[in-house]
Amino acid sequence: MGSRWGKLTKTDDVLLALSKTIPEFTRDMGIFQYKDKKYRLVDNFASSQYMKCGICGNYPIFAVSVIRSKDGDRLNACSSCIDQITNRAVSGWFKTYRRKRGNILENRKYIDGLSSILAEYKRSKLPFQIPSEDVEELRKTFFQMCNGLNPRTEQKQLADCYFSYTVE
Ligand SMILES: [Zn+2]
Repeated sequence: MGSRWGKLTKTDDVLLALSKTIPEFTRDMGIFQYKDKKYRLVDNFASSQYMKCGICGNYPIFAVSVIRSKDGDRLNACSSCIDQITNRAVSGWFKTYRRKRGNILENRKYIDGLSSILAEYKRSKLPFQIPSEDVEELRKTFFQMCNGLNPRTEQKQLADCYFSYTVE
């Protein structure tokens, strides 16, 4: 079986791995210039409060990038401003990040459940028979969800079907 199985992780590990892509992304982005100062991106979040862009004055903004200069100046930037001053698709990257994170959290039951079933199948410890085409489909569903994608209804139904066997 080997490498085609990849790692059968649980939701918390998947989320941890995803969160590690943030410092990688910001490190890779490095330092950028705005007016007479050099800045770094220190945070990006979806705000539930009304906030104002400190660069273009746009109000309200809901996706906020916080940038900080070496001497401690902090600015909140809107999506188009952060993309413009960094010359990168920063806002899109974080939007994708948040969507993936939301999907992973929503699919926790499926990720954890399939992780267990597939691990037991791999060790031939499953208390029931499972056709190889179903294993293949469940494996595909599992890795899809670990990558932050949402499963289709039929994929969920197949997983639910095997979940119901495991609790009996
Ligand atoms: Zn702006």
